[in-house]
Amino acid sequence: MRVLIIGGGIGGLTAALALHARGIESVVCEQAAGIRELGVGINTLPHAINELATLGLLDELDRVGIRTAELIYKTAKGQPILRQPRGIDAGYEYPQFSIHRGKLQAVLLDAVRARLGDEAVLTGHKLVGFDQDKSGVIARFETAEDEIELRADVMVGADGIHSMVRRTYRGEEGPPDWNGILMWRGATWAKPFLSGRSMIIAGGMKAKLVLYPISNDPHRPDETLMNWVVCAKIGDESMPVPGKDDWSRAGTVDEVMRHVDGVFSLDEVDIETLIRSTPENYVYPMCDREPLRRWSWRRVTLLGDAAHPMYPVGSNGASQAILDAVTLADCLAAFSPVEALKTYEKTRRPATTKIVRANRKGGPERVIDLVEERAPNGFNNLDAVASKAELTALVGAYQSMAGFARNQVND
Ligand SMILES: Cc1cc2nc3c(=O)[nH]c(=O)nc-3n(C[C@H](O)[C@H](O)[C@H](O)COP(=O)(O)OP(=O)(O)OC[C@H]3O[C@@H](n4cnc5c(N)ncnc54)[C@H](O)[C@@H]3O)c2cc1C
Repeated sequence: MRVLIIGGGIGGLTAALALHARGIESVVCEQAAGIRELGVGINTLPHAINELATLGLLDELDRVGIRTAELIYKTAKGQPILRQPRGIDAGYEYPQFSIHRGKLQAVLLDAVRARLGDEAVLTGHKLVGFDQDKSGVIARFETAEDEIELRADVMVGADGIHSMVRRTYRGEEGPPDWNGILMWRGATWAKPFLSGRSMIIAGGMKAKLVLYPISNDPHRPDETLMNWVVCAKIGDESMPVPGKDDWSRAGTVDEVMRHVDGVFSLDEVDIETLIRSTPENYVYPMCDREPLRRWSWRRVTLLGDAAHPMYPVGSNGASQAILDAVTLADCLAAFSPVEALKTYEKTRRPATTKIVRANRKGGPERVIDLVEERAPNGFNNLDAVASKAELTALVGAYQSMAGFARNQVND
């Protein structure tokens, strides 16, 4: 069997590795001329790391990422709400990683090239159309020189939130849905805070600050590469989603500071200095799409953000793409192509639909929303606002729903 994977992001590259591990040939076709280390920080959860460890990538992840030790939820003014250990520190068999998206992608890409060969990744190949018949799929690509066709038994659309594969079947959807929140993201070398492996989420859904270290460098022992995200609600759901050129556009310090000045303060980090010392930051709209009723059309299916784009809360975007990839590979190893895609969809679609919907309500970050709603000016006694049991239950329910409660991962 030969599988065409459209998109060389985290989902597509993991799929190539998982298929290879099961003896199935694949080719990754990526529209970008070269795979560059784009993006800033992401978090990957223990159930997804379990899969990457099975693919033999744990040492490489340790080389480029940081094992997250704890997550502290705070008010915008820095009052602690809930502190929870994460990954190994929380008793999981596998760590949670805070990692640069581009570095994670590079780890996967190097492994694909080493195991499948250089010819397994075709950059500068933009999918522009495809057809399928009883025996396979014929996909058409634009390259720098001309248009070419490739044939395979199965095609997987791992081509992100603006997926061409999804658009072919669900063109009437239009652009992604936007909740009116813009996110400014950046990373810069700074002094570590708390354990050096801690993560802080402060504020609420209307204005939120996320901070975590994503990399260390032995040549800079006193510093860590600190990832930050500032989210601000600047409109509502009725606003048109920013055009394609405004996805990942460069942001200015002044526009970020407008949403930080007088809003956030933390004992652990001087946020203004952190933002002002960041060489560049990027602005993204917080978008998702309404979950689909189907992902698979005979020999063609969707994976990762193409299948279930979700708000980046609860650290699930990359993690769910990794889980999709491994499930898909298991199914293709066990069944005929059409049957495999049906079984894959049956397993992964309901699981990810729940997460998309839960993330619309804030996901585990409901804990900060809840406290902000009940005590907008802060509190003297947190217990009188929300008990630890209530807050812990909220986070625990999200973890169970998303399949990464400790008992679901350790077996
Ligand atoms: C440039 C970029 C930066 C990002 N930065 C962050 C970040 O900082 N933090 C964060 O949490 N998440 C970030 N994300 C999103 C995150 O990577 C995903 O949510 C998650 O990893 C799931 O990945 P995916 O493989 O499904 O999709 P993606 O990571 O979006 O990968 C899809 C790939 O498909 C390719 N592609 C699209 N259309 C075609 C086509 N027609 N033909 C061939 N190839 C095509 C794209 O170029 C891309 O490489 C970023 C995504 C991208 C593309």
